[in-house]
Amino acid sequence: MLAAVTAAAAVAPRSLFAASREPREVAFVHTHTREQLSVTYFADGIYDTDSLAALNWFLRDHRTGDQHPVDPALFDLLHDLRIATGTASPYQVISGYRSPRSNGMLREKSRGVAAGSLHLQGRAIDIRLADVSSAALRDAAIRLRHGGVGYYASSDFVHLDTGRFRTW
Ligand SMILES: [Zn+2]
Repeated sequence: MLAAVTAAAAVAPRSLFAASREPREVAFVHTHTREQLSVTYFADGIYDTDSLAALNWFLRDHRTGDQHPVDPALFDLLHDLRIATGTASPYQVISGYRSPRSNGMLREKSRGVAAGSLHLQGRAIDIRLADVSSAALRDAAIRLRHGGVGYYASSDFVHLDTGRFRTW
């Protein structure tokens, strides 16, 4: 299963605009740490190492301070989604990387937290936007048909990940 996913990721276009060498940007504000980050993480046909390092730190486990490399395909997904929604707002981050310890604590509190969550692999993010409803954000993400899309109406956020396309 994992081998199949890896092989598919190697050949599948990472983004709608993957053929494009246009710069790709992402802008975040973190709901827990209150930090903000706006970076051009892809330019001149390559992912920028310093920007990815800054993004890895920004998306660290805010409970424990642990950080983990975040899949750059996740930023491509967010880039495509920004264009698809026409948002002018930064993504509000509820959760990025989640350490095993944090995930265990959350699982004790909520049945909605998966043991094999892609948050543990730096391949998932929970977000909302100030100028697009979470329902509309979910719909736009589903239209991309790229990765997992989970909608949490009561908490008003959308989960996105770089696993196979699925919705909940
Ligand atoms: Zn999530």
